Amino acid sequence: MKKILVTGGAGFIGSHLCTRLLKEGNDVICLDNYFTGSKENILHLIGNPHFELVRHDVINPYYAVVDEIYNLACPASPIHYQFDPIKTVKTSVMGAINMLGLARSSKAKILQASTSEVYGDPFVHPQTEAYWGNVNPIGFRSCYDEGKRCAETLFMDYHRQLHVRIKIIRIFNTYGPNMHPNDGRVISNFIVQALNGEDITIYGDGSQTRSFQYVDDLVEGMIRMMATGDDFIGPVNIGNPGEYTIRQLAEKVIELTGSKSRLIFKDLPQDDPKQRQPNITLAKSKLNWEPKVHLNDGLIRTIDYFKTKLG
Ligand code: NAD
Ligand code: UDP
Repeated sequence: MKKILVTGGAGFIGSHLCTRLLKEGNDVICLDNYFTGSKENILHLIGNPHFELVRHDVINPYYAVVDEIYNLACPASPIHYQFDPIKTVKTSVMGAINMLGLARSSKAKILQASTSEVYGDPFVHPQTEAYWGNVNPIGFRSCYDEGKRCAETLFMDYHRQLHVRIKIIRIFNTYGPNMHPNDGRVISNFIVQALNGEDITIYGDGSQTRSFQYVDDLVEGMIRMMATGDDFIGPVNIGNPGEYTIRQLAEKVIELTGSKSRLIFKDLPQDDPKQRQPNITLAKSKLNWEPKVHLNDGLIRTIDYFKTKLG
């Protein structure tokens, strides 16, 4: 039985990951400060003797003896990571230092949940791992983008200098049950608005694109990445290449919910990337992985979740 630490385990992705790791017979420590996550997401795991919940902030050191660490702690939605941008940088950078230190002392493998945001507003499309990105270092998104880029740097340097066993994945837009209704990201916003019969808020003209991955596909990719040998450290893109404009997404959500909501257009936030689509050739060859859940199916499951959640 492996002892696995999941930081940010009470969040959207972390809660799915903890559930899957426990199902596979592991011992799981879920560490979270509940900034954007909640106990509700992991309520079904509380009471399982192999599950341990720890309230802790990753900007402070944490000690335990573990075999693997998944480092997910960090707000991921623009409204939440911009709420306290200094804290966001600290979470990414000091969190990475603290977790890498723990991996070193435990001789554990550690996986970093990096992001497609390291590519910024990309000139290379679709994005390959070899692309260095186009990131504004002084804008409103920088606390997240540069924090995550610095975390990747730290992972690489702990690996080269101290031989820590690292893995880096770059996650592209992911959605599914357990997203908070007020999360602020596009899929949860559109579904909640459609179910409540409110206006659907498109930022800009809706021509910007994203590629949406269902959370189960991501979790499968994460587990496969962790299982690779020490010779493969990434970074590797984990995302669904199906690319949609935000307007197309809004229309799809209206169709699938049968909502009478109208589309309204609001200002585009600063530095909002115009296009995003992963090239997943590397993940296919190294992890024998590709996403299985089509956007329509994933949206239906997520809509069902929000219907229950909103009553
Ligand atoms: P989320 O906001 O639902 O989860 C983040 C979790 O981290 C929350 O439970 C939060 O309370 C916790 N957290 C935040 N700061 C912390 C701190 N200082 N100490 C301890 N815990 C802290 O977001 P998510 O979508 O589940 O994202 C999880 C990870 O995946 C993040 O690192 C995010 O950057 C990365 N990621 C997500 C996406 C996506 O589309 N969901 C895309 C790229 C990368
Ligand atoms: N977006 C939107 N309406 C919303 C929320 C987001 O049009 O209510 C847009 C946002 O401007 C961006 C895209 O949807 O172009 C994805 O936004 P999200 O915050 O989900 O993720 P990110 O921008 O980090 O990819």
